[in-house]
Amino acid sequence: MQSASFFRKPVQVDVRPEFVHYLVTGGAGFIGSHLVDALLEQGHRVTVLDDLSTGSLENLDHHRADPRLEFVQGSILDQPLVARLVSDADAIYHLAAVVGVKHVVDDPLRGMVVNVQGTEIILEEAARSGCKVLVASSSETYGKSVQVPLQEDADTLIGSSTVPRWSYALSKLLDEQLALAYHRQKELPVVVVRYFNAYGPRLDPRGYGSVVARFISQARRGEPLTIYGDGEQTRTFTYVSDTVAGTMAAMTTPSAVGMVFNIGNNVECSIEVLADKIRGIVNPALAVTHIPYQAAYGAAFEETRRRLPDTTRAREILGFQATVPLDEGLRRTIHWFEECFYELIEA
Ligand code: UDP
Repeated sequence: MQSASFFRKPVQVDVRPEFVHYLVTGGAGFIGSHLVDALLEQGHRVTVLDDLSTGSLENLDHHRADPRLEFVQGSILDQPLVARLVSDADAIYHLAAVVGVKHVVDDPLRGMVVNVQGTEIILEEAARSGCKVLVASSSETYGKSVQVPLQEDADTLIGSSTVPRWSYALSKLLDEQLALAYHRQKELPVVVVRYFNAYGPRLDPRGYGSVVARFISQARRGEPLTIYGDGEQTRTFTYVSDTVAGTMAAMTTPSAVGMVFNIGNNVECSIEVLADKIRGIVNPALAVTHIPYQAAYGAAFEETRRRLPDTTRAREILGFQATVPLDEGLRRTIHWFEECFYELIEA
């Protein structure tokens, strides 16, 4: 069990000293709710702050009777609310954000305001309270970089401001810069994690932000799987329990403070192969159809061709390595869609 000694504030919870009170922003979301599961499982107390814009209370429903979980519906832009919740917490997992390229392309203004201003509010209040913060960022911050495997300190390659896609990467890069500046200038203990295409149960079945969810939903409706472009672009899909394990390791490893970590699998998979795997599990007779990027995302769109993390730092400093193979993770995810998702919503 981890020690609480790396937190700057004395532990004030009523249980055993190794248990702490975490604030999880975005804790009703896909990754956030799995993180809440794991924290409660370890015996911690958790307060979730979520505006339920993309998260869902159903993701936390199985904890309804647990007095160690408090749910607060609200926005990270509500500074008085954030101040109150932060002052009660020992440490913060900051996952609340407008997530995924599609959401941000659809509403770039909201994406940038929530992601940048919201993170600034969290950091400001954390600094006031002396609360350690983990900031969730994204592999999208590498932009179009072709220096694979992508290493945390390497240059990124972000496209022009005339291409809306890049506003998500920029908002997350600004979050990272803010967090690291709070660390350097105000000695706030921060750690940044960059997620690589997390997938698993509780993905939004409408497919926002995840090709895995879109393909599974399409397959379950018996529709062709829509591959954008040639399908040779790659991603490293990371099963959510691995994403959570890496996140918790980053928070609880004292030497990780002030650093940025790739949290991802290191097995690259093309979108074409992903489609084949999902068809293979759900229905091999399903077709695939190729759609030009422009039809999917609008005229000014640029694609990231390869996204493979360098996992050396996470392995050496956090002792983290993803363990769930893609085939196994996809089986579990498809099983969840079949068991828990009753209505086939239009993706
Ligand atoms: N993609 C696709 N068909 C879809 C949705 C996405 O081919 O219906 C592709 C998308 O163009 C990208 C990859 O799948 O190359 C991963 O997309 P996702 O939105 O999951 O995340 P990204 O890595 O782009 O943030």
